[in-house]
Amino acid sequence: MSQLSRWDKKYLWHPFTQQADWEASDPIVVRSAKGSWLTDDRGRRYLDGVSSLWVTVHGHREPVLDRAVKRQLARMAHTTFLGLTHEPGILLARELVRIAPKGLSRVFYSDNGSTSVEVALKMAFQYWSRQGEKRPEFLALSNSYHGDTLGAVSVGGVRLFHRAFKPLLFRARFAPTPSCYRCPFRKKPPLDLLRGEKDASGPTPKPGEARAETGCRWDCLAGAEKILKARRGRLAAAVVEPVVQGAAGMLVQPPGYLKGLERLCRKYGVLLIADEVATGFGRTGAMFAVEREGVVPDFLCLSKSITGGYLPLAATLTTEKVYRAFLGRPEEFKTFFHGHTYTANPLACAAALENLKLYRKRSLLKFLRPKIARLKSFLDSLRGRLHVGNVRQAGFMAGIELVVDGKTGKPYPVVARTAHRVCLAARRRGLWLRPLGDVLVLMPPLGISFKDLDRMFSAVERSIADVMAA
Ligand code: PMP
Repeated sequence: MSQLSRWDKKYLWHPFTQQADWEASDPIVVRSAKGSWLTDDRGRRYLDGVSSLWVTVHGHREPVLDRAVKRQLARMAHTTFLGLTHEPGILLARELVRIAPKGLSRVFYSDNGSTSVEVALKMAFQYWSRQGEKRPEFLALSNSYHGDTLGAVSVGGVRLFHRAFKPLLFRARFAPTPSCYRCPFRKKPPLDLLRGEKDASGPTPKPGEARAETGCRWDCLAGAEKILKARRGRLAAAVVEPVVQGAAGMLVQPPGYLKGLERLCRKYGVLLIADEVATGFGRTGAMFAVEREGVVPDFLCLSKSITGGYLPLAATLTTEKVYRAFLGRPEEFKTFFHGHTYTANPLACAAALENLKLYRKRSLLKFLRPKIARLKSFLDSLRGRLHVGNVRQAGFMAGIELVVDGKTGKPYPVVARTAHRVCLAARRRGLWLRPLGDVLVLMPPLGISFKDLDRMFSAVERSIADVMAA
């Protein structure tokens, strides 16, 4: 074990990590990265299969982004956004408004995904206060994940992560998870329900109305409507990860769900917060996942890929309607009293601005399409295998759920840590992955080459086989 590993274990505490397990492990100490590859302190290379936790876009050490950060560094690394402003912050806001769904015209910066959600929750609550309405509740989805600050945890529905903090949280009402695999409204898991279904959205669904192709009656939407109706006038907003509930295990929503939820929010006069921290910036194939269903939320929360995976930055976009509710004379105290020291850090804004230019210059999303198709054919090849319960894909985000028997959907016992063991096997094969429970997550950088993509598929397939054979 290297000196660095020893010091890591002596001085550090890692996020979402059982330290007892970590202390017994042989951690990868990353020394450098280039393109889709990480190199450790012993010179071993690993393909970055999850974009360094869903952030890397064009690749590591992308020369254009490196230059942009260096250029900004030559001017200034940081100054405050409280009482001052600066060019990268202004230009980036203009660009974000340009690419966001029409109607989202104001940008409020913060520095991570959780705070982008926190800002939206507080703005939504205060928006209603400004109208003289007390609306202290939120609608969220079961199994949702919106970050780790207490507001974001309050609207979080992953029991494992969130239940420990329950006494500290404000009230959220949880609607059923819109996921067809293990759908709570069916007796048996409809194992391959989504196979062959098109990505494009159909007509806006109505709760309780049967879907021709599957017989589904949209009980998940009906569940959301029940809450919206019962809590009318009490709910400030509905908060949702559009299209994919990422941290829950890449749970992909049936096409039409998001549009249906938007319609219900309008019907019951509730604001809609789209948390695109994970799905934003092309991960689902569209620039923003809400575009896939023609949805325009009242708040759009962005972070992760915004800087191409370079620096921490987040933005909460909202409408003029919300913005105007906060205008007044200083002594009226209608101000939005919220802000972070490193808000709109100029280095991060410069990286983000250049990152977005690269999307355009390289027609990134157009060139992503064949990669998405390649990912689909790989996932299709896994369907029906004994230990593959379900494969899920939305654009370039994918999850492979491992189970004892794909026919019954019987899960592995937690102690077996099956997906974790597959990831260890993948590591031996030069691929770095981080699972979610027993779901293998595949989320490579958007700029990955076809050759590396195929390497990743081969390593995934063999690593599953390694563990199943053991
Ligand atoms: N929202 C979603 C949908 C996320 O996936 C995440 C992080 N995985 C967050 C919020 C929180 O972001 P951060 O870790 O930057 O606080």
